[in-house]
Amino acid sequence: MKITIVYDNEAAPPFKSDWGFSCLIETKEANVLFDTGAKGEILLRNMSELELDPKDITAVVLSHDHWDHTGGLEWLLSVNSNIIVYKPTFSNTPKKIFPTIMTTGTLGGRYSIQEQALVCTTGSGLVVITGCSHPGLENILNTAKRFGKVYAVLGGFHGFDKFDAIKGISIIVPCHCTSHKREIQALFPDAYKEGGVGKKFEL
Ligand SMILES: [Zn+2]
Ligand SMILES: [Zn+2]
Repeated sequence: MKITIVYDNEAAPPFKSDWGFSCLIETKEANVLFDTGAKGEILLRNMSELELDPKDITAVVLSHDHWDHTGGLEWLLSVNSNIIVYKPTFSNTPKKIFPTIMTTGTLGGRYSIQEQALVCTTGSGLVVITGCSHPGLENILNTAKRFGKVYAVLGGFHGFDKFDAIKGISIIVPCHCTSHKREIQALFPDAYKEGGVGKKFEL
């Protein structure tokens, strides 16, 4: 599978940075856009710079109902009305949406932000993709670990600082709202990979 970051707080020209997150997951069976960033026009611009066609997107998974993750959805549906949209539900049961892609189910306490993440199966292990990690990256990873060994984790980690929870993960790509990028890089120099719009990961 291939992951391409299309929306992030960081970007080098020709891409445009903006507060928000979105990445495209391409597998044999589907092209899934995880989150949509904040603004349709920036999502469009970055996708066209990457030569990604919104008409090729099979499904959108929204991690949580925050504008910096859902803002591009309207534009996307206006150019491709066939997209299936998976929003967080009231269920905390992981759900397989394609043969190698499942959601974690909705995590987070009753009075906190409800958020889901993605768990993808690859030959090297599981790849976990997060939006903001409001329920705590360690909790998201604990859910993923029920299905096997986590090989890679990519996305927004928010204020995550329980660094033991990512020990042993081979590829760590903190994006978007991650507060402790530099600490993570210092602790895991081999696993740490720089995020940002246009970064591609073949896993
Ligand atoms: Zn958020
Ligand atoms: Zn966010």
